[in-house]
Order: sequence, then structure tokens, then C-alpha cells
Amino acid sequence: SIVERITADPRSTPFSVEFYPPRNEKEEQRLWRAVRTFEQLHPAFVSLTYGAGGSTRDRTVRIAGQIATETTLLPVAHLTAVDHSISELRGLVGSYADRGIVNLLALRGDPPGNPLGDWVMHPEGVEYAEELVRLIRELGDFHVGVASFPEGHYRAKDLDHDTYYLLNKLRAGAEYSITQMFFEVEDYLRLRDRVSAADPVHGEKPIIPGLLPITSLRQVRKIVELSGSQIPSHLEDRLARAAGSGPEEDRVEVRKVGIELATKMSERLIAEGAPCLHFCTLNFSRATQEVLTNLGLAPVPA
Ligand code: FAD
Repeated sequence: SIVERITADPRSTPFSVEFYPPRNEKEEQRLWRAVRTFEQLHPAFVSLTYGAGGSTRDRTVRIAGQIATETTLLPVAHLTAVDHSISELRGLVGSYADRGIVNLLALRGDPPGNPLGDWVMHPEGVEYAEELVRLIRELGDFHVGVASFPEGHYRAKDLDHDTYYLLNKLRAGAEYSITQMFFEVEDYLRLRDRVSAADPVHGEKPIIPGLLPITSLRQVRKIVELSGSQIPSHLEDRLARAAGSGPEEDRVEVRKVGIELATKMSERLIAEGAPCLHFCTLNFSRATQEVLTNLGLAPVPA
């Protein structure tokens, strides 16, 4: 299981990486290059996100299966409640199981098209990720993780409600959570404190911090906007200065800032005892590898 993997060696902090299902042949080649590069670096696990449409969903299942059978990596497959009836969700969990995948990340997902728009439950589906956790656990011996939100989920009334619902997912049988990407380590530490203060048993389950090594200001703005979280203004200013005022942003300078930030955040998270560092790779390996190299967790990229 993921928890066993990340606690296997108490002397060093493991890392993990996140991929998304490729949209075309070229992206698929890039994904496999990244998969093969990370295979050499021994992440504790690799996770694969789940999209909104039929074909991207099939690709998540297929690629997670290929990672399970054709590589030495341990896949965590995401699934969401969006546009799925309970019977389809059962079928989906079954197709993961058929491919030897027992580690699942149970998510509610966002409304397709407009992630920040009104959530509409499938008439025969589930309303919250907590129900998905229960459903998966009923279906067999799966190890389930869930999402957590250092700044609070944007739909949660306040941080207390956010904490309460995260704990409900953990009480329903989730073994760990992976956080939304964030840029202030304090937010992560406060989340961890809130959850462990509210429930000394389930609140001690691992909270794996999600990190994005920023390589483009335009791209991080878009990702952050779609996730309902925020770039702190001091960082936004720094990135904007690095990007310069030309028609094209200065990617070299932005990248420098991004790698330095991700390195500093990782160092602090390791010092604070984070159980694992989870990197959003966008299916590239280089930026994440540079951060890992800075941390002494990977050789210098070739
Ligand atoms: P839930 O835990 O169901 O929470 C949704 C909202 O409802 C929250 O505001 C919560 O506070 C509230 N709530 C929960 N339970 C109750 C209740 N009983 N009563 C009232 N309110 C309640 N999206 C994808 O589409 N595909 C992916 O692969 C994907 N991967 C992700 C990976 C990570 C690590 C993270 C952090 C997010 C990911 N997402 C993904 C995005 C995620 O689906 C969205 O953030 C979504 O808005 C919330 O999902 P959740 O599972 O946390 O939902």
C-alpha cells in the first residue's frame, strides 16, 4: 500500500509524481519518456489523474494498467464521481482491479467545462468523495487515498468545515490524503495541525504535500485558477518580475524562480517531517528532477 511504501525507510523522505492522461500520440510519447526517467529515480508511487470525457477516462485506465504491468512503478489511479452512476463507478473500480491496480485516489471531481461552476450530482451517482471511499472499500481490498486542501476547499464554508469533511473521508476508510498544490508551507502545517487536533486517531494519517515546480507564469496562473486556490502575491510579484515585460515571458528566469521555490519548500517540508513529497509533473521530468537533485534525492539530469 501507499502508506507502507512511504513509511518504509524512516531515514529519508520519499517522493512521488503525478501524471495526466495524454491527449494525443505526441503527448503519450512524452508521458512515457517521463515515466521511464522517473523509473530510474525510484518514486514511492506515481499517480494518474482522471479527466471528464470518455476517451480521456479510458486512457487513464489503460495507462495506469500499463504502468502496473510494464514498469517497476506503483500506480495510484484517480477516479471521480463526475457523470458516473454508482454502477459505472463499480465497473470502473473493477477495471482497475482487473489490471492489478489496488491503490485508488477517490475524488468528487469538478463540474466539466467550468470547474468553479455549480456541482451537479449524477442522478444515480454519489454526492461527495466520502461516499466514493465507502463504495470502493465495499468492493474489495483496495487502498484508498483522498484529496486535502491546505487553503481549504473553495466550496467549504470555512476551515472547520473543511477539516470536518476531510476527517469524514479518513474515517470512511481513506488511509492518507494528497494535498492540492500550495505555495505557503505554513498552510500545509496548519492543515496538519487542524486535522490532528480534531481527531487524534484519523487525523494522524499521512498528509502528502502536493508541489508544482513552476516553469511558466502563464501556466501556473491557469492551473491555480482552475483549482480555486491562489498564488501568494509576493510570489506572483517575483514571478512577474522574472517573466519580464516582453510579449513572451522569460521562461528561463521564471523556471529559475520556480525550481528554487520548490526546492526551498521541499527542504522545509522535509524538516517538518512531511511523509512524502508529491510532484505535479505535467508529464515532464526535467523540472522535478532538478528539484530532486537539489535535495540530494536524484542524480544531476543527463
Ligand atoms: P469532497 O471531499 O467531496 O468535497 C467537495 C466539497 O464538499 C468540499 O467543499 C467539502 O468541504 C464539501 N463536503 C464534503 N462532504 C460534505 C458533506 N457531507 N456535506 C456538505 N459538504 C461536504 N479532479 C479531477 O477531475 N480528476 C483528478 O484526477 C483529480 N485529482 C486530484 C488530486 C488531488 C491531490 C487533489 C487535491 C485534487 C484533485 N482533483 C481532481 C480535483 C478535485 O476533484 C476537486 O478539488 C474537487 O472540487 C473536490 O474533490 P474532493 O474529492 O475533495 O471532494
